Amino acid sequence: MVNQKYYGLGTAPSGIRALFAYGLEQAKIVGPENVFDYSLGNPSIPAPAKVNEAIADLAQNYDSIKLHGYSVAAGHEDVRQAIADNLNERFDVNAKASELFMTCGCAPALVSVAKALTTSTDDEFIAIAPFFPEYHVFFTCDGAQLKVVPADTEHFQINFAELEKIITKNTKAVIVNSPNNPSGVVYTEETLTKMAALLTEKGKEFGHPIYIIADEPYRELVYGDVKVPFIPTIYDNTIVCYSWSKSLSLPGERIGYVFVGEKCEMWDEVFNSIVGAAREIGSVCPPTLIQKVIGRCVGEMPNLEAYDENRQLLFNSLSEMGYEMAKPDGAFYMFVKAPNGDAVAFSEKAKLEHNLLVVPGDGFECPGYFRLSYCVSNDMIKRSLPAFKAMIESYK
Ligand code: PLP
Repeated sequence: MVNQKYYGLGTAPSGIRALFAYGLEQAKIVGPENVFDYSLGNPSIPAPAKVNEAIADLAQNYDSIKLHGYSVAAGHEDVRQAIADNLNERFDVNAKASELFMTCGCAPALVSVAKALTTSTDDEFIAIAPFFPEYHVFFTCDGAQLKVVPADTEHFQINFAELEKIITKNTKAVIVNSPNNPSGVVYTEETLTKMAALLTEKGKEFGHPIYIIADEPYRELVYGDVKVPFIPTIYDNTIVCYSWSKSLSLPGERIGYVFVGEKCEMWDEVFNSIVGAAREIGSVCPPTLIQKVIGRCVGEMPNLEAYDENRQLLFNSLSEMGYEMAKPDGAFYMFVKAPNGDAVAFSEKAKLEHNLLVVPGDGFECPGYFRLSYCVSNDMIKRSLPAFKAMIESYK
């Protein structure tokens, strides 16, 4: 009676959610102060005050029928223009409102792009490990294959020898997620320039463009003086998927966009197929209220102090204990090497012996590492340090 693929997806257990649920149950038994939950990537700093002010002002002063009404499918033109202006100010890309399509978060943006580019079950998308596990669902939705480039576990940049081997005439796009979930690493300009050169060369060889799908919900989450290059300025054939889920702490508001600059080869086909694909999954005209809020708050930047404090405390404390990890320059994740190389066993032991909840890297296609989401309270980090210490000591 029902579609078995969707039934399977709907009932498949999620390791991360299971850890989170375990934490909630344990909290009832041992007290919430004794559970150290690093499982979920749910922002822990509030949205900037201007967001709530904009909501209040719109609710009070904007025409109620318009505020709760449909926008055009692509999203309100004034909002898309505000986003384009902001991109132009920051990245000098000559973006136009007509190159932006508003979506209900980054996930439907990615699904729409995957659908738009899939023309046959031979098509291939390439993901670079470690990567967001949902790519398996998103990029195979219309029958394409997801190929995986093994992780560069030295620097968590990109393993180019493997990437070059994996690209074929069937490659439609390479998915680039920087700052990265789960490693927290930012791909350097040098890495992205090298990628652009490789894709240009391979595109010529195979006679069709190979796109970069830039999955960028963490673009604004970066620390110190590290820069996150805007990929369309490096490679014209880039399709950007963005959301304010993490940058403005608005994951529940479901608001984001796809940006395809006109310099992108086959712009009309690509952009309008994304629009058509979004139509098929019903991801059109995100709520007007939150679109209008974004129009007013697009220039807001998150206050990253709390994340940065957490990042430094964890990085310094764990390094001192002897843990090794990827350089955590962005997002709110740290990707730590399991002391004996078995992150699944480490996670299980940490959970059972210390109520310390860490996510094994296996689901991100990078076994041997575990992910810590440090969008938590600084106090929880302090309380959790003896557990990390006991864990590493137990392997000595
Ligand atoms: N891409 C990555 C790498 C993510 O980590 C997430 C969410 O955690 C998404 C996309 C989906 O973002 P959104 O909540 O805006 O749909």
